[in-house]
Amino acid sequence: MLLLRWFAKNRNYPGFGRLTHPRQRIESERMHVIVLGAGLAGVTSAWYLRQAGHRVTVIERQPAAGLETSFANGGQISVSHPEPWANPGAPAQILRWLGREDAPLLFRPRLDWGQWSWGLRFLLECLPGRTRRNTEAVARLAIYSRNCLRALQTETGIEYDRLGKGILHLFFSPGEYAQAAPRAALLHGFGVHAEVLDPAACLKTEPALAHCEDSILGGLYAPDDETGDALAFTQQLAGLCREAGVAFRYDTPLSALAVEGGRAVAALAGAERIGGDAFLVALGSYSAALVRPLGECLPIYPVKGYSVTLPLAPDAEAPSVSITDESRRIVCSRLGQRLRIAGTAELTGFDSGVNPARCQAIQRRALQLFPHLAPAGEAEYWAGLRPATPGNVPIIGRSRLDGLFYNTGHGTLGWTLACGSGRAIAEIIDGKTPQLGFPFRHL
Ligand SMILES: Cc1cc2nc3c(=O)[nH]c(=O)nc-3n(C[C@H](O)[C@H](O)[C@H](O)COP(=O)(O)OP(=O)(O)OC[C@H]3O[C@@H](n4cnc5c(N)ncnc54)[C@H](O)[C@@H]3O)c2cc1C
Repeated sequence: MLLLRWFAKNRNYPGFGRLTHPRQRIESERMHVIVLGAGLAGVTSAWYLRQAGHRVTVIERQPAAGLETSFANGGQISVSHPEPWANPGAPAQILRWLGREDAPLLFRPRLDWGQWSWGLRFLLECLPGRTRRNTEAVARLAIYSRNCLRALQTETGIEYDRLGKGILHLFFSPGEYAQAAPRAALLHGFGVHAEVLDPAACLKTEPALAHCEDSILGGLYAPDDETGDALAFTQQLAGLCREAGVAFRYDTPLSALAVEGGRAVAALAGAERIGGDAFLVALGSYSAALVRPLGECLPIYPVKGYSVTLPLAPDAEAPSVSITDESRRIVCSRLGQRLRIAGTAELTGFDSGVNPARCQAIQRRALQLFPHLAPAGEAEYWAGLRPATPGNVPIIGRSRLDGLFYNTGHGTLGWTLACGSGRAIAEIIDGKTPQLGFPFRHL
């Protein structure tokens, strides 16, 4: 009996079970983690933190999860596209597009130091060595993340209009098509299967492309990629988190973080102080502003994008393989009886208003590719602010302050990278080092 009592009291001693570091385990059992933001990044983090046994509270200014950038994205789990916008060819391309309203990437200069300093860092990330390093980091995280998503889906049965038919990248100019084989080789190097297809093979892969066969020069097909509705996923996972004991505080806009003795101690929402042992910033494009007064500098700038969602008639000739139009930087994903068309990138500050002209442009392009879409109702237009870092590598890890962590800056790939990032940051908060070749912050 005495021995049993001693064992119960000392069960965190390193000699017992799989616990290797006693202090770390004692802390984690006591830890109350406050997750700031209920988008893809915040909700996946909350899930893995709860699975690891922490008490978790999520704070969100909207009335539900996933209502900002995670609301109507392109739907692609795109492991086959780890290359960032910042690449050696980007500066010349952006100059060519300057001032063109239909440009896939549009820089609208403003009197905003944040925009210019981000732009300069973007140029730096266009150096070949940086592009290679960023591509590799994102590819590793993307592969890990897709595995995490699949495991979570199998474990929970979560439903989000998932389709596992792959992504077909289409090329319409000889210069871009010339990149298909090197891109396939690069992906093979990461262990990602991708095939270069001629126009006939593209059509065989996705018969709904029959009407634009003449203009297609070729494609790059990644059969293991998938698609799904990020909003449905975020909201369902938030529901599963709640069932597992995570507390959600909606309609709660945060104004600051309180720090005492070099340690984050509370999140401030109006007059309310919400205390906890650890704070995870997952506020998307608004992450940098919250931590700037603490001397923390996150290179995140909003990059605006648009989407159009078309409800489909039963006889619509719509694709089921997800399509990426590499020339226009537009993606089309089938989400049940809807087609989501998304794209364009605009550096224009925090304005998230919908510009119908931009939406109509991407809708027109989708109708060129698939003229027999037969929409069954009104198209829904949407705009969102991608929380982009200059090299498109998210910021996951520790801050310089005790008890303050980041899972943010996922840019163009926040859906692709969500589960892996959430799982990795849960491990980091637990005091572990994720076994993944990724540049985690301050690890
Ligand atoms: C047009 C478009 C297409 C895209 N397509 C794809 C795609 O096909 N595949 C892919 O992988 N990714 C895609 N993305 C990127 C992806 O959608 C984002 O990277 C992802 O949604 C970011 O998630 P997040 O949780 O970091 O941010 P968010 O979803 O914006 O979540 C942050 C949350 O923090 C809350 N918040 C902010 N400030 C405060 C505050 N002060 N107080 C309280 N709460 C606050 C917000 O309300 C929000 O809910 C696309 C993005 C866009 C815009």
